[in-house]
Amino acid sequence: MLFEDLNLIEPIKKAIKTKGFVKPTPIQSRAIPSLLKGMDLLGCAQTGTGKTAAFAIPILQGITLQHKANASRRQIQALIIAPTRELAIQIADSFEDYGKNLTLKTLVIYGGVSQNPQTKDLTKGIDILVATPGRLLDLINQRYVSLKNVKYFVLDEADHMLDMGMLQDVKKIIAHLPKEKQTMFFSATMPAEIEKLANSILKNPIKIMVTPASSTVEIIEQELYYVDNGNKVNLLIDLLKNKDIISALVFSRTKHGANRIVKNLGKAGLVAEAIHGNKSQTARQLALNNFKERKTRILVATDIAARGIDIEELSHVINFDLPEVPETYVHRIGRTGRASHGGTAISFCSQAEKPLLKSIQKLTTKFIVEIDDHPYPLIETSIEVIVKSDRRKPSMKAVTQGKPRNSRRNNDIKKKVVKTEKMRNN
Ligand code: AMP
Repeated sequence: MLFEDLNLIEPIKKAIKTKGFVKPTPIQSRAIPSLLKGMDLLGCAQTGTGKTAAFAIPILQGITLQHKANASRRQIQALIIAPTRELAIQIADSFEDYGKNLTLKTLVIYGGVSQNPQTKDLTKGIDILVATPGRLLDLINQRYVSLKNVKYFVLDEADHMLDMGMLQDVKKIIAHLPKEKQTMFFSATMPAEIEKLANSILKNPIKIMVTPASSTVEIIEQELYYVDNGNKVNLLIDLLKNKDIISALVFSRTKHGANRIVKNLGKAGLVAEAIHGNKSQTARQLALNNFKERKTRILVATDIAARGIDIEELSHVINFDLPEVPETYVHRIGRTGRASHGGTAISFCSQAEKPLLKSIQKLTTKFIVEIDDHPYPLIETSIEVIVKSDRRKPSMKAVTQGKPRNSRRNNDIKKKVVKTEKMRNN
């Protein structure tokens, strides 16, 4: 199927062409026809699948064809809520991109900045509002926002809203919406509370599941480096200096960790910027823009700050620390390999992180290739490498999913033997 086959109006087709897209992604080819018919949608899809266009295109077309003529003054006809400011900004950018040949007005509002410019824009009248829940609720309560004319409602990354404790605010916002509307609900995972919320607001929805394995994650090369915590920075410097890495998004588990990485990279002559919750919104946006525009090559982020960030042609994602929740690994590596571009995800794994790696391996269906000829191997595995090099030089080996391969088990045994002998010699 091509975009040409989707029954879209000329100005939207033209905008899609300008973006250079020809073929809809699986979620787009399934969602757009049903959404154009006015159906509700439950989408199990993460960022990277093309889900933004899947809802933005039918909303733009719907407002243009059905509702715009009725309004004497611009009123909010579409509301999109997203968990983070970065994601909200990106969604608004997409509405502007796909609607560039239309005359609709989009506004994005989020917390952490003064509300004055936002309220000023709101009073001028807008058609599409993209918002984070907290600021939106504030502005509803101050009567700057009226949702009574909303015809299209999108809840994006609902599971992340749950993680971030936003569900109460979301429910309060929903209570302000009219009963008659078209609802699109997106969540990468479906915890019970999210399923309950979806059931309570969707009417006979079309359900679309786009699993990461069949979409983006499959085209991402995944590499694994066993390395001691104390050597992770050295390994990172080594990789960033010597490897053909055009742009790298580095994930740190903590805000302090992210700052430390940036500082250490700086000492080694590698310019990097950090985004995390302790940075001001302006600083985060600036760092993100610098990265998107290729002014900085390395961006170090925590999970919350990086959620939903859409950077086209990001070549590498580096998991400096493995995530506690295996699904987060899939979210992280989905930042690279967007839609049609390939990408590489590099993960560092210390001794203490091995159990986390095991859960990740159970979840991903693709091989994670272990790179063991690097300068900072785990102290214990270095003994293993010496034994193996008696037979042949190790280079790359595939780590099978779930259980270790026999050869690995044999190596583990050898490792133990060597260690025991070493102790005896001492
Ligand atoms: P999303 O999942 O909405 O965050 O989209 C992920 C990325 O895919 C964005 O960079 C989009 O610009 C890009 N994209 C969306 N639809 C298509 C398409 N049909 N063909 C190629 N790239 C696309």
